[in-house]
Amino acid sequence: MIETDAVIIGAGPVGLYQAFQLGLLEIGAHIVDALPAPGGQCIELYPDKPIYDIPGIVQCSGRELAERLQAQVRPFNTAMHFGHLVAELATQPDGRFALTTSAGLVFNARSVFIAAGVGAFQPRALKVIGLDAFEGTQVLHQAPAAGTLSGQQVLVFGDDDVALSEAVALATSPRPQRPASVTLVHRRDAFSAAPDVVARLRAACDAQQMRFVAAQAVGVETNAGRLTSMLLIGVDGATFVQPADMVLALLGLSPKLGPIAHWGLAMAKRQLQVDTEQFQTNVPGIHAVGDINTYPGKRKLITCGFHEATLAAYGAAQRLRPGEPVLLQYTTTSPRLHKLLGV
Ligand SMILES: Cc1cc2nc3c(=O)[nH]c(=O)nc-3n(C[C@H](O)[C@H](O)[C@H](O)COP(=O)(O)OP(=O)(O)OC[C@H]3O[C@@H](n4cnc5c(N)ncnc54)[C@H](O)[C@@H]3O)c2cc1C
Repeated sequence: MIETDAVIIGAGPVGLYQAFQLGLLEIGAHIVDALPAPGGQCIELYPDKPIYDIPGIVQCSGRELAERLQAQVRPFNTAMHFGHLVAELATQPDGRFALTTSAGLVFNARSVFIAAGVGAFQPRALKVIGLDAFEGTQVLHQAPAAGTLSGQQVLVFGDDDVALSEAVALATSPRPQRPASVTLVHRRDAFSAAPDVVARLRAACDAQQMRFVAAQAVGVETNAGRLTSMLLIGVDGATFVQPADMVLALLGLSPKLGPIAHWGLAMAKRQLQVDTEQFQTNVPGIHAVGDINTYPGKRKLITCGFHEATLAAYGAAQRLRPGEPVLLQYTTTSPRLHKLLGV
């Protein structure tokens, strides 16, 4: 059980900035994100695309913004827990909040900041009847450790940089670690991956290190409880059997609102309703900031999320330290803030 003043759900741009604003008000926070790294949509959906409307930054990429926000919050040593989906949130009799993650972390928090954006990013499933029985055993959504697939017949599904790069990396791995065969499957012979990655795939196929098959999965074949083959339908409409010991479904990520919808918080159109003074939900002590919230005039923009996070932090400070005035201090001139920031 981790005792803390605040838990921030989501390490997207707004969750990261929320931690910074809480830090300035000396409210200790833990950030939890289902993804393996911070940045939210900026990293998952547009890491290399330019953003032009962050105040004071003429242009930066999604990745650069995520890096700048991490650097800004660093003085506060905010604990960050990645690969944890917050599955449960419940109010305790003493007014605190119990949060439980899918990977078994439990928090006892005095306040909660939901900065969950459009939801937790989860791997897209390969929709084939009977395949889900092999999730986690013969169907994986990321390549396992080197050598794990040695001698196996591997089918890789996907068409982006990750899928093509993983397929080529497996097919060209050193002999003892190399699978018996690697076949990339995509519905057509055109890919969303970068041209240089596609070129490496074509070179590996030409060198007969692997195969590419333009087809779609339509069924599975099993034997004694094990997946043995996938049924594929080619572009010519013919169905054929492709042996498979392991399926790597590398179809990208899609956001899912998931458990948040079941926490008893007031919602409108799958977003959390908040006031505009503290960006608090209908449960005192639970705030919602960034793309996850809604209020009259809401715009899903990063700069709006930064404003929401600032006022949510002040609202929480007032609630956590009743009777104490929450003074506004400037980072430019406040010796207290300079000390906190280490400047
Ligand atoms: C292509 C594209 C371009 C864009 N360009 C701009 C632009 O130029 N300017 C601009 O202002 N905005 C832009 N946006 C919008 C901007 O990216 C979003 O407004 C911003 O990312 C919202 O930040 P957030 O922190 O609220 O949510 P997100 O960035 O969505 O982050 C939410 C995080 O919460 C995590 N999460 C969700 N649920 C859980 C859970 N239960 N447990 C654990 N973790 C959870 C997710 O994994 C995710 O990492 C763009 C969006 C897209 C898609």
